[in-house]
Amino acid sequence: MKVGIIGAGSVGSATAFALIMKGVARKVVLIDANETKAVAEAADIAHAAPFAYANKIKAGTYDDLKGCEIVIVTAGANQRPGETRIDLLGRNVKIFESIIPQIAKAAPETTLLITANPADIMTEVTLKLSGFPKERVIGSGTVLDTSRFRTLLGYYLGISPQSIHANVLGEHGDSEVLVWSASDAGTVSLDKIAQDMGKPFTDEVKAQIDDGVRNAAYKIIDGKGATFYGIAGALTRICSAITNNEYAILTVSSHQEDVEGIKGVCVSLPTVLGKRGVHKVIYPTLNDAERKALHDSAVTMKEYSDKALEMIAG
Ligand code: NAD
Repeated sequence: MKVGIIGAGSVGSATAFALIMKGVARKVVLIDANETKAVAEAADIAHAAPFAYANKIKAGTYDDLKGCEIVIVTAGANQRPGETRIDLLGRNVKIFESIIPQIAKAAPETTLLITANPADIMTEVTLKLSGFPKERVIGSGTVLDTSRFRTLLGYYLGISPQSIHANVLGEHGDSEVLVWSASDAGTVSLDKIAQDMGKPFTDEVKAQIDDGVRNAAYKIIDGKGATFYGIAGALTRICSAITNNEYAILTVSSHQEDVEGIKGVCVSLPTVLGKRGVHKVIYPTLNDAERKALHDSAVTMKEYSDKALEMIAG
């Protein structure tokens, strides 16, 4: 499988490294406005490839995207300490206006995987700029947040995060929704497991886990300036689901017709992914508080998406 990555910064190069070392991509093309950086990152990663698989990576141009099954877009401004993801909107819409039409021209059959922030809104912007069917425009959404949630739950309970079914839905960002009511492991609700283990989910524990998930990026950015390994893992997992036609359920973002009464908005819901991109979106069963939170998240995303689409029109 050939994958293109636009943006050879922290996220793009960490993702290229993960794709090559896990053997998910046979060929990777790295494109960046800073060509010298793309060439250097590609060379560095190429020197690691022989320790894993006979995979190839090179820096390239938009013409080299021909034949890519997936093109990941990481190019864009990054959050500075204290900035929210939505603060990046204006800068990243401009960048996407120059990038997306070039990808669509070079690789009209590809699936676009959007990770530049604010990721859900940039997914909506990409849908508009590419003219692609909505099944082939996917945001990395809350796949990373879901992993953060499972990691913290697993560490607290002493269970492998991989055995936990718990999801984060809605925005990849401040209004995201941690679904506690439908989380389970080994046929049993996490609430019951927590009780049985003498580690109940008190309000304080829930608040700590919520903060650890919702504010993870802010804390990591404060500590090291950017987040990239977690999202590289998430993007690699999404690519694997698509290229292997897995029909895996992941909480990616895509254009939804109706989310709790809000029409036409990109947010994350459990989604069956395969070769055609989005095969099916599964509408979740939530309790009243979670439904309200998902509604509010969709309202926020709709408001900013409309602003972003106006920027394009203008
Ligand atoms: P970075 O600054 O390290 O890299 C961005 C790269 O994009 C730079 O190398 C820059 O030269 C390139 N670029 C800028 N404009 C371009 C253009 N027009 N064409 C080609 N390349 C261009 O930033 P980063 O840490 O890699 O983050 C990239 C984006 O990903 C940011 O928007 C960040 O907020 C987002 N992000 C998303 C998630 C997520 O979960 N969705 C997680 C981490 C970061």
